[in-house]
Amino acid sequence: MTGMRPAEIRVSEIFGPTIQGEGALTGLPTVFVRTGGCDYRCSWCDSLHAVDSAYRDQWRAMTTEEVWNEVTRLSGGLPVMVSLSGGNPRSSRSGR
Ligand code: SF4
Repeated sequence: MTGMRPAEIRVSEIFGPTIQGEGALTGLPTVFVRTGGCDYRCSWCDSLHAVDSAYRDQWRAMTTEEVWNEVTRLSGGLPVMVSLSGGNPRSSRSGR
């Protein structure tokens, strides 16, 4: 459909490249895309700034193209891993 605005997700932060510190890909250069908002409250969460709606003013609505452009800018166009992290940006609870 023409004239429709592309879907957006709430992004808390995009940073890197830095070294992946977890999982099977530990040690690989990685750009992290952390989404904002989450409808869970895991006791082990280390991303409160991405989860708690108190920080929502710091989240940015971005299209997938905008996210990709930022990843490409940060990586200098070089191939890196991309880690999609953070919460559930479409959750209703985090929208409060
Ligand atoms: S962002 Fe992940 S770890 Fe944190 S509360 Fe949500 S699901 Fe749990």
